[in-house]
Amino acid sequence: MWILRLNMNDRTYRLSEVPEAYKNLGGRGTTSTIVHDEVPPLCHPLGPNNKLVFAPGIVTGTAAPTSARVSAGAKSWLTGGIKESNAGSSWASYFANMQIKALIVEGQPMEKGKYWITHLTWDDKAGKPKAEFLPADPYTGKDLYEVFPKVYEQFGTRAAIAGCGVAGEYGYGNSGIAFNDLGKRPSRYSGRGGLGAVMASRRLKFIVLDSKGAPGVPIANQGLFDQGAKKLAEALREHAITKPKGGLNTYGTAVLVNIMNEAGGLPTRNFSSGRFEGAAKIAGEAIFEGVKNRLGKEVYNHACSPGCIIQCSNTWYKTDGTEHTSCVEYESDWALGANCGIDSLDDVAEMVRLCNAYGLDTIETGTALAVAMEAGVIPFGDGKKAIQLVHEMGKGTPMGRILGGGTDFAGRAFGVTRVPTVKRQSMPAYEPRAVKGMGVTYATTTMGADHTAGYTIAPEILSVGGKVDPLSPEGKAALSRGFQATTAFIDSTGHCLFIAFAILDIASGFEGMMEECNGVLGTNWKSEDAAKIGGEILRKERAFNEAAGIGKEEDRIPEFMKYEPLPPHNQVFDVSDKVLDSVYGEL
Ligand code: SF4
Repeated sequence: MWILRLNMNDRTYRLSEVPEAYKNLGGRGTTSTIVHDEVPPLCHPLGPNNKLVFAPGIVTGTAAPTSARVSAGAKSWLTGGIKESNAGSSWASYFANMQIKALIVEGQPMEKGKYWITHLTWDDKAGKPKAEFLPADPYTGKDLYEVFPKVYEQFGTRAAIAGCGVAGEYGYGNSGIAFNDLGKRPSRYSGRGGLGAVMASRRLKFIVLDSKGAPGVPIANQGLFDQGAKKLAEALREHAITKPKGGLNTYGTAVLVNIMNEAGGLPTRNFSSGRFEGAAKIAGEAIFEGVKNRLGKEVYNHACSPGCIIQCSNTWYKTDGTEHTSCVEYESDWALGANCGIDSLDDVAEMVRLCNAYGLDTIETGTALAVAMEAGVIPFGDGKKAIQLVHEMGKGTPMGRILGGGTDFAGRAFGVTRVPTVKRQSMPAYEPRAVKGMGVTYATTTMGADHTAGYTIAPEILSVGGKVDPLSPEGKAALSRGFQATTAFIDSTGHCLFIAFAILDIASGFEGMMEECNGVLGTNWKSEDAAKIGGEILRKERAFNEAAGIGKEEDRIPEFMKYEPLPPHNQVFDVSDKVLDSVYGEL
């Protein structure tokens, strides 16, 4: 296995062996450790001393089900703290098959406005990966839907692509890194935290991979690995949420719209209510029925990346039956729909498409638009005007740059007090006043408000992995801590976090995940080690943030949530600061 460093100052690369201390790391564990060890915490995220790190999960590239994930990490331009954001793509599998444990992008060319492509292939003779650097001039300043086919033309249809859009080139806090899906769309994202701008600030536009001839991931104990993969696959095929034609495969992640609305926890019109009267029109069920009407047949969802059993990615179609966009995820549907008071799936789908085209995070885009709506820039519910504002972000107009700076930045520009951010990152689609464990995760995670960092929705709303009252503040520190630690481990394995539904309810599935990791690494981890290993990763992330000036004082929910009761439950966020401090205080 290799550590591959790209030096963007002189466009050279260096391969080195993986240090002993990194051998059992993967995904988030790898990116957060390298950022912790190598990035000066006080550096400017877009300056020459930040580093962008990519790492496949421990089992990525193997036959482990639903495991083609890659983590991207750096000091975040949005939060100023450590960031890890992972995506599913064939890019991840190729990367792992080339036996690259981590790719570290370093340096910053002096020349502004000139971007590069790194092409990574497998050098058969040398038995290692090789990199070449090519100018990216034809691809800069353009829509990613327009340039992806041209990149495939240049490098061949086998290639896999990671890259930033114009949002990254403009230096937006709201800019992600796009990866190809299995349909070659620029639609899978390490979306959060401004990593697109960090990539663009190294003047790196695309990393194109072709793993032809690569040896694949070494497996220390094939029998144990196979046994684990079988157990996990069985659990995924059995659980109601993850099985074929189950909740996610039929309705996609947007199956949560009606569920969260019913629970009074669907943030609506810039977090001013927990219920949206138009929820049923944008719900996963409406997507399924709408597609059936427009195509004249039932369509179940597809996989975003190789080897996924769950297959939750949907496609929305226009009235003439041609594709509009893929994929309308729950978070995107909510951010650009309910949170903006918009109940048209066509308008939501168009904004999702534009976010993919420009390299924007759909969550941060929707929450920034809602803050602008609150300020009276455009009315709540006006989908057509919202689409125009997303275009302004893509064109880099002054208004577009204010919105592209992110929700917190837009709130300051417009003088809005109801700004739903923690550590300058906007909250996703779960209202902290209606689901208090999720509020604790938003407040305390190292990532800024992030649902994927500790998804307590599982027991609080879905009765997965137990059953907990979402409105009660009791016991939520321990709940969130446990979820955050276990999640940091799952993010390191390379599995999609959606396996959690099955492995929390089916113990053999959890065992299977651990056996897969032990099979690859030759370790002897038990199920109870997952939270310990995850806890170590959280401690490193926390140490980086503290050194960057982000201490426990920033582990707080926005003030308005403590004094504005949220309909329909009319609750405020009433978890005390002392309890919030205990999440990491007792880690
Ligand atoms: S469950 Fe959905 S998001 Fe996760 S890997 Fe599969 S298709 Fe992609």
